[in-house]
Amino acid sequence: MTAEQKRQTARFLDMADDYLSTGFYNGERLYNFTSDIAASASVTVDADIVVDVEGELRKIEDEIRDCRNCPLCEKRRSTVAGEGVSRPLAMVIGEGPGADEDASGRPFVGAAGQLLDKMLAAIGLSRQTNCFIANVVKCRPPGNRDPEPEEKAACMPFLRRQISILRPQAILAAGRVPAQTLLQTTESISRLRGRWSEWRLEQNSAAIQLLPTFHPSYLLRDESQKPLAWDDLKKFARRLAAMDASYDAASASLRKKYKI
Ligand code: SF4
Repeated sequence: MTAEQKRQTARFLDMADDYLSTGFYNGERLYNFTSDIAASASVTVDADIVVDVEGELRKIEDEIRDCRNCPLCEKRRSTVAGEGVSRPLAMVIGEGPGADEDASGRPFVGAAGQLLDKMLAAIGLSRQTNCFIANVVKCRPPGNRDPEPEEKAACMPFLRRQISILRPQAILAAGRVPAQTLLQTTESISRLRGRWSEWRLEQNSAAIQLLPTFHPSYLLRDESQKPLAWDDLKKFARRLAAMDASYDAASASLRKKYKI
């Protein structure tokens, strides 16, 4: 074998190794099989495998910005892809952008968003440090109506890709629409809230713990429901503490303070 043939063989093996383990070579995606990774219970993505999470998130955000796959694109001012850290401990999934979010292009920034941030902070979570916040639909339904089934179906592939890339340990479904959509049920949020489910991207993929709770805008309208939402948050914090040692340590004083 000549020196050039050896060099090309070594390059091929290097490329094949990267490609088979991550789908990337030299930072460039060769084939999109993140869903295959998520679907396979026998394949684990660990700290040794470099996946360009931020690059993938940007790619999804770009696609969302250009998306016209459902009628919600007609009246939007902004698309709202989501916001948070690229290796989140938890994801919060809401329904869709409201007026403030549509204006700013950011999720949960109005009064409900401020309440959500306070709720998360009480259990040691935030979009700046360990959470990612997204919605079922990325464009505002006019008049804040519920998204139609076809609109949710058109938009859910974006959320599924985000979950597949972000790989949170647990999901907090904030409100009826995300809870019913993710769990594919028509049960009321009053019955769903506070009950853990194992949610899977694909039938055989690893389970992600999912807990529904009330949407913060509902809590603003009916403050009497806040104690129930607080029960849900404490439940969420306890499960995260059992699953993740760093969260357990970081949130220990808060959990002691609130007797979680
Ligand atoms: S809501 Fe989702 S599917 Fe519909 S136009 Fe916006 S990004 Fe596309």
